[in-house]
Amino acid sequence: MAKTLTPLDGSRVWPYKFFRAEKMRCRCGQCETLYISAAFMDKLELMRGTYYQAPMIVNSGCRCPAWNKHENGKDDSAHIADPEKNLITTAADIRIYNGTGRYNMIQAAIAVGINVIGIYRHFIHLEDSPEKEVSAWPGKY
Ligand SMILES: [Zn+2]
Ligand SMILES: [Zn+2]
Repeated sequence: MAKTLTPLDGSRVWPYKFFRAEKMRCRCGQCETLYISAAFMDKLELMRGTYYQAPMIVNSGCRCPAWNKHENGKDDSAHIADPEKNLITTAADIRIYNGTGRYNMIQAAIAVGINVIGIYRHFIHLEDSPEKEVSAWPGKY
């Protein structure tokens, strides 16, 4: 089944109250690309507002291809935002430092249907990729 994702590109009013657009944009310092799945953002917003109910600090959301390389992202990373190739970001890394928060964040992510979760030492990679099998994988650092 093809992905049906609506890109949120900042051309409309940003509808989210818990996540500011500036935090989801590419942080390379050059492009400020904001091209992210509305379905994913809806899940993050629901997660933050209903299931997690604590601040969610975004370390990384959209990445242009160059910034993704710089951040050691995989070539097919769900962070990549490239409007020309119609690649829409469907992932965000959320800072977390303690076990209780990590547990609660994972539980909330699963509750809203986020289906790919990467567990790193100081952040959690949340990804909404319906074409992938559900997965919780350990980060390399
Ligand atoms: Zn960039
Ligand atoms: Zn990530």
